[in-house]
Amino acid sequence: MNETRELIIIGGGPAGYTAALYAARANLSPLVIEGFAWGGQLMITSDVENYPGYADGILGPQMMQDFRRQSERFGAEFVTDDVTKVDFSEHPFRVSVGDTDYFSESVIVATGASARQLGLQTERTLQGKGVSYCAVCDAAFFREKEVVVVGGGDSAMEEAIFLTKFASKVTVLHRRAEFRASPIMFDRARANEKIEFVTPVVVEEALGAEEGKLTAVRIRNLETDEISEIPADGLFVAIGHDPTTKLFVDQLDHDEAGYLVTQPGSTATNVEGVFAAGDVVDHVYRQAVTAAGMGSMAALDAERWLAARDISAERSALTAPRA
Ligand code: NAP
Repeated sequence: MNETRELIIIGGGPAGYTAALYAARANLSPLVIEGFAWGGQLMITSDVENYPGYADGILGPQMMQDFRRQSERFGAEFVTDDVTKVDFSEHPFRVSVGDTDYFSESVIVATGASARQLGLQTERTLQGKGVSYCAVCDAAFFREKEVVVVGGGDSAMEEAIFLTKFASKVTVLHRRAEFRASPIMFDRARANEKIEFVTPVVVEEALGAEEGKLTAVRIRNLETDEISEIPADGLFVAIGHDPTTKLFVDQLDHDEAGYLVTQPGSTATNVEGVFAAGDVVDHVYRQAVTAAGMGSMAALDAERWLAARDISAERSALTAPRA
């Protein structure tokens, strides 16, 4: 356990596994501490049709297994558990999983983010069966269907507008009459004939668990306490995301929402030798393909950084420091 590795990758989603693939192929023998529930947000997604290379689409969990297997093929090692503590104040860095400490010259943080959930009993059961947290990913499955979107921020407006390309009707459900969304986004949504707003309401239940797919949502009006049902094939929850950064915010620069901040045009954080990639940094694009792209960037950045310090045994043109 006391051996110092060249690279530890924290996180087992598209960014972490892609970083592992690149690092393993660069002979850095990365250790991926992938988390107990490895795979990230793709594990609660059914069909993925927008990841290039899978021409016939792929199930999210299968795609993550493929990612993992591909990095394993080149020598990535895995710890299927959650990191409980990190210490980036001293070099080599210490990454702890319970009582076990791992030491490394460099670290890539790729712990992702998670969509906030409503916390309904049937929400989890119907995930991928009508309940979704990403319109860009899933809207195309709702061609000529009726869907609801929950939320009153820019995400909810953006998702609602995007959904109108496919769905026949989009109902936005928000808990207040006032909207947090920027006026321009709100106005754009209001001007769309397919979008209807219902406020101030909360969703009390997602219906359809017995049928195996969402059929309706039960809502409660917060002013009148009146309960009603809205038939829907899709429930898009757009109430924000939370980056998984609790372990890092004391040591790495982050924005107000907790997303890690990297240097422009790079995956380097404020701590030399610590890099960050994927949704833990990116609150704008949040796609598997962008996370994977950033994962490869982080591995290349780490490789260059190690080579520049002459830590990496294999120094190549690719790993030479940038001018
Ligand atoms: P957000 O601004 O925090 O809005 C979240 C919305 O969800 C709020 O309306 C909130 O209601 C509601 N909400 C939160 N928890 C809820 C719950 N448990 N049940 C029901 N409703 C709940 O999050 P966001 O919309 O994801 O935006 C995050 C950031 O990204 C913002 O800065 C936004 O401007 C930015 N963004 C920009 C764009 C763009 O410009 N194209 C697109 C997307 C996001 P309350 O208002 O009552 O609190």
